[in-house]
Order: sequence, then structure tokens, then C-alpha cells
Amino acid sequence: MNSIGKQVLNALKGEINEIDYQRYIKQLTYDESESKSNLAIYRAPNALIANWVRTKFADKIAHLFEIKTNIKPTVSILIQSTSAATPSAVSNPTMQTNTERPSGSLLNPSYTFQNFVVGDSNNFAFIAAKNVSEKPGVVYNPLFIYGGVGLGKTHLMQSVGNVMLSQGKTVIYTSVEQFLNDFTRHLSNRTMDRFKDKYRKCDLLLIDDIQFLSNKNQIQEEFFHTFDALRNENKQIIITSDKPPKKIGGLEERLKSRFESGLVADIQPPELETKIEIIKKKCEINRVKLDREVINYVATIIENNTREIEGILSKLNAYSQLMGVDITIEFARNVLKEQMAEKRSNITTDLIMDTVAKELNIKPSEIRSKSRNSNIVYARRIAIYLSRSLTPNSMPQLAQYFGMKDHTAVSHTMKKIQELMKNDEDFRMKIEELSNKVSIATPE
Ligand code: ADP
Ligand code: MG
Repeated sequence: MNSIGKQVLNALKGEINEIDYQRYIKQLTYDESESKSNLAIYRAPNALIANWVRTKFADKIAHLFEIKTNIKPTVSILIQSTSAATPSAVSNPTMQTNTERPSGSLLNPSYTFQNFVVGDSNNFAFIAAKNVSEKPGVVYNPLFIYGGVGLGKTHLMQSVGNVMLSQGKTVIYTSVEQFLNDFTRHLSNRTMDRFKDKYRKCDLLLIDDIQFLSNKNQIQEEFFHTFDALRNENKQIIITSDKPPKKIGGLEERLKSRFESGLVADIQPPELETKIEIIKKKCEINRVKLDREVINYVATIIENNTREIEGILSKLNAYSQLMGVDITIEFARNVLKEQMAEKRSNITTDLIMDTVAKELNIKPSEIRSKSRNSNIVYARRIAIYLSRSLTPNSMPQLAQYFGMKDHTAVSHTMKKIQELMKNDEDFRMKIEELSNKVSIATPE
């Protein structure tokens, strides 16, 4: 008899086109031993296929499960761990002996220091994490890393985990939610000893996205004791959050001060150059070939959230395989057009002004003023250019909005910017980056 996971894929075959089925779905294997009624785990041979299935088919798969079992599971597409090829892909030793290993607790074997691109934006956190991996429990304990979504916090903390795992140390990677679930389960099973054993006897505890502790009092209490027990034994703790300890609301003071007692390191959004290097790295890891122009273009599309990169790469790669063509810049623009168009539908001149002003460190009101200060003139020209390219406003409308004489002034500005873009590659990229920033910005 076919497993339920297989039956679902067979059913999916009837709903999607043959090429998608052959190229992606057929490559999946259902992980029967790890799956549960509310969690369906499939393994894909590589990150590209995994990403593609995740974005395109995961919902359909969940839906088909629901039809067959009446339960809609979370569908998780993980990458097959071929332990021979990637020795570090072994799962956490403590967890391995533990039959209830939650699938999310595995470290991602590609989250290593070697695969992490260092730039001004993340240098400090990188060095801190590197030091901790060399002297765990000694230099900074805890290490607290904070920053926005997709800036590499999980990657960095797991890099330390992978180093220590390869030395045979016991590493636990967990989210607040998993910690809480584990706690509740052991509490109701009256097996708190095992809970304490597990979390207080590891060499390295990684807690991701600690901001979710906010307002959860009971688990804060438990975490506090876990924290102290580990630190008294000089066991390393690494914590990530979207904000610094002080700014996490609904958190006990004693926890805040514990979090600040080691080293607090922030990660800032990457500069354009760092983004480009990250894309190159991801291409290398996923074996995608992109030329310089396409890489630069992709760098301008993604805003700060580097998480988008893998999605974009798999999209480009999948389309190009499907159509049997190389990924040229025209091709990339075309494939990613929809993505940009969606983001662009809500753009207003106000939004453009705010974004440009913020980016160039001036006040939005200055853009519309009569000032001849060169910075302001520069910002004004860019704002006009972007407004004309990204909004449906006519030249006379823009002339009025920006307080210019008439539409010829607008037209003149457009020509100036276009000329600059043609002659100056850096400037063109800046403008593309800005226009993508505007597209992604949400009005307040
Ligand atoms: P966060 O936890 O801060 O939300 P992640 O660690 O999940 O972000 O990073 C999102 C994605 O971006 C991952 O695929 C990660 O490998 C990648 N990434 C982020 N920063 C870097 C970097 N500096 N070098 C290489 N990859 C990075
Ligand atoms: Mg994260």
C-alpha cells in the first residue's frame, strides 16, 4: 500500500502540469517516520527544488491531505541529508536519541561561517559569533544577536551550532514555541526531570526569536532557571531577537538584564555590495549560474530581507530550465516583472518622497521646497524621476506637486536622470535600488 504522503502526490499529479510533476514533485520522498497527522514532511534532493515546491505546491499538498484525512497538516519540505556528502548534516546528538525529535530542531548544514558573507552591516555580530564558537561559555555568555527579518541571525547562530556539533558537542536549537510545547508536554506527562535534563545538560543552547517570550509568564520563569543553570556551568547560550533586550515588551526585568549581561550584537541591513556577495554565495551553493548583470539586478530587487534571494534564484532557474534558455538580464527582468508589478501597485508620490528623503537623509518637506542646496536638488530630481516612472501621474501633475514652473521642467529632469543612468552604472544601480525600495515600502 502506498503511504498517505505518496497518495497525495499521486493526486497532485492530476492537478498540475506534467513538466512540474516530473521536475519537482517526482523528486520528493515522503518522510513517513518523522511525519505526524498535523505535520507532513517531504524530502527534496536540493534547496532549489525544496524552495520551488514550498512556494508553488505546499498549499495544494496540504489541501489534498485535508481531503484525504480531514486534517490539514503543516507541509514541510526539507532537504535530504546525504550524510556522506555533507558530514555536518547529522542531526543534533541529543535529539537523535530522543524519539520525539521535532523536525524543526535540525541545524541547517549550509548555515556555516564559510557561507556567511561579511560586510559592515554584520561584521560585529559575525566576529562575536566566531569568537564564541572558538571559546564557548567563556567569552560572551549569552551572545544576544538582534536585527530585522532575513538579515542572517539564524544563519549566524547555527554556524556556531555547526562548529560545535562537528566537535561532538551537544547542541540544542529551538524556538520559543518549541521550548514552550516541550515544557507543557513534559509538565502534563509529569516528566519534568527529562525536560530539565535535556535543556540544562547541553553544551550549547540556541534560542531563536526570543521576542516571542513576551507576555508568556510561566515559560519566562522556566527559561530563567534554564538560563541560570546553563550559565553557572559555563555552557554557552545564544539568543536572537528582532529587537534589543530593552525593547522587548512584556519581558521580566531579570531576564532583560540577563540578556544584556553577555554581549549584545546587532545586524544592520546589508549594503548593496554585501547583497551582491550574498547572491554570489547562494548561486555557488545552489549551483546556479548568473552573470554579473543579472546578479546586480537581483541585488537591486531584494530589499533588506535576504531570504528572498533563494526564492528568486529558484524561480529564475526553474523558468530557464523549463524554457531551455539561458538566464540573461532580459529574461530575469521578464520573469521577475510580476513580482515587481505586484509590489508597485500602491505607490504614491508621497511614498516616493518619504523613501527618497529617508534614504538621502533630508526632510520630505525639503524635497518640495524651493531650496537650491545641491543635496536637495539631487533628491528632488530623483523623486521626480521615480514618480514619473512608478506612478500614473502626468508631467503637468508632477510639476504642480513638486512646485515647478511647468511640465517642461519635469521633462528636463527626466532627461537629466536618464542620461546619468546611461553613463554611470553605479548611479543606475542606486536608482534601481531606490525604485525597488519604494516598491517594497508600505505607506504608514
Ligand atoms: P534571520 O534569522 O535574521 O531572519 P536568516 O538567518 O534566516 O535571517 O537568513 C535568511 C537567509 O539569508 C538565509 O538563507 C541566510 O543564509 C541568508 N543570509 C543572510 N545574511 C547572509 C550573509 N551575510 N551571508 C550569507 N547568507 C546570508
Ligand atoms: Mg531567523
